Formats: sequence, C-alpha cells, structure tokens
Amino acid sequence: MAEKVTVASDWLCGCAGCHMSLLDIDERIVDLVQLATLTSTPITDLKHPSKDGVVVGILEGGVNNSANEEVAKTMRERSKILIALGDCAVFGGIPTMRNFAGMDEALRRAYVETESTVDGQVPHHEDIAVMQECRPLDQVVPVDIYLPGCPPSADAIWFVLSELLAGRMPELKGKYLDWH
Ligand code: SF4
Repeated sequence: MAEKVTVASDWLCGCAGCHMSLLDIDERIVDLVQLATLTSTPITDLKHPSKDGVVVGILEGGVNNSANEEVAKTMRERSKILIALGDCAVFGGIPTMRNFAGMDEALRRAYVETESTVDGQVPHHEDIAVMQECRPLDQVVPVDIYLPGCPPSADAIWFVLSELLAGRMPELKGKYLDWH
C-alpha cells in the first residue's frame, strides 16, 4: 500500500468558516483519511506540524498579529506545498477592513466602544503584538496554491486535495473559483 500523504492545517485571523467547509466534504472524508494522514489541525490534539514536516500545509485566515506570523512561518518551513485557504488567506479578506481605520481606532472600536461593551479594555499580551495592518498570507510567506472563496466550496477543497493526493498540482478554474 502506498505511503499516505501527510497533511496539516491551521488557522490565522479567520472565522473558522474555511475549516467548516473542509469538513463539508462529508463522506469524502473517508477517502481523505485512506489516502492522507492529518497530522495536526485545529481540531486534533496536535496543533502544529512536527519538525519532520508534512507534504501539504493548509492555512486559513490573514496575518493579523505576531502569533499569526509565527504560525505561518512554521507551517511554511514544514510544508512542501502550502495552500492559502479562503479569501482571508488569499487576499486578506474581511479582517483587512480594519486597515482602513488604522490599528488604534480599530482596537478601540472593537473592545471599548462596542454598544454591548461595559468598561471595555483593549486586551494586551506581552508575547503577542498586533500588526499595524492585517495582511494576506503571501505577504509573509510564499504560497503554492491559492484557493479563494468565503469560504471556498467543499467541492473546490476536495478537488485541490484529491489532485494533490493523486500526485498532481491542481489547476483551479471554472466552478472551483468562487469569486462572489
Ligand atoms: Fe471566514 Fe470567509 Fe475568511 Fe474563510 S475566507 S476564514 S469563511 S471570513
């Protein structure tokens, strides 16, 4: 039996919707686990790819803070092929709307001025720095495959994964490019 392809995924600044769409491949998940080993994902015990690396790395979300940047660089270093999954990873997506307001105003609006907030404070963590701007993934690390959509359809995700598992680089076109 052929050796299984190792696959890891993680999320940066996103809403988890792209991973929900990945789970929407439904019964094709059985085919996936027959051909691939999911080494680390946000929904497995192991959260980050091991130092041995993986064949396919998948990242959802934009790069919004120093923790996102570290996760992106680690996934890039440890993946032969890196997929930017969804509009936030491909273009920056919805999180980049904060770039129009500037970081201080966006943080104040989100954590202090929100109508439902009482005595709000901008959170602070000494190990995490919020970036001046949220960026798409390829402004931080090189990307091999861009899979747009908010989220990309389960069919598009399955097409990309099944092509990679068959040893081919997927050519995304037509119905798999969801530009709505
Ligand atoms: Fe969520 Fe859409 Fe961004 Fe995916 S692309 S993380 S579904 S907002």
